[in-house]
Amino acid sequence: MRILAIEDEPKTAAFLQKGLTENGFSVVVCTRGDEGLALARNEPFDAVILDISLPGVSGFGVLSALRGAGNHVPVLCLTARDTVEDRVRGLELGADDYLVKPFSFSELLARLRSILRRSALNPNDPVLRVQDLEVNLPKMQAKRQGVRLDLTAKEFLLLALLARRAGEVLSRTVIAEQVWDINFDSNTNVVEVAIRRLRKKIDDPFPVKLIRTVRGIGYCLAKTNEPAATEAW
Ligand code: CA
Repeated sequence: MRILAIEDEPKTAAFLQKGLTENGFSVVVCTRGDEGLALARNEPFDAVILDISLPGVSGFGVLSALRGAGNHVPVLCLTARDTVEDRVRGLELGADDYLVKPFSFSELLARLRSILRRSALNPNDPVLRVQDLEVNLPKMQAKRQGVRLDLTAKEFLLLALLARRAGEVLSRTVIAEQVWDINFDSNTNVVEVAIRRLRKKIDDPFPVKLIRTVRGIGYCLAKTNEPAATEAW
């Protein structure tokens, strides 16, 4: 697997290079957006790890130029602890996933493997399907049984995160970091409240419930309608 990492921060770039190489990937690191774009256009890569804030051309510029040219290489964006709008924008421009800095290497590896798996299944399809749920990342739309679900931007990001990692149990900490930028050891119940609201929209009207609570750990979007024993845990 050949990965292009476009990242201008030396420490993060070195961290990516070392970690990915140790995990058997072949890595090309590039520190400018314009150079990264030229590389991505001219050489085959299995995935691109793309920082948003870059010299030359921004990550958004790289992404929109690639997608505009019909290049569907899987892209994992790295976003600063910034606004939710950045994440939404990345997905709208055709990013397959995003990761909020600072991130752990294991989390990066999980996301990278997940986008690689997905692109192997269906390289040109931006729609995630989990049972009768469809999540269209660039359009920011979700449907169940073909019925459009009316979600806020945060609810969409939460659902998209669960759908991208369907079958995996996601801890409240991971969810809070990736959707809200909250580093929390606090007693905040923001995740519980948001899950409850999301359930009202995506599960309550339907006989089959997709969101499962794993007591003491977190939440999981069920890949199949089998009992929980067949899921990842
Ligand atoms: Ca940067």
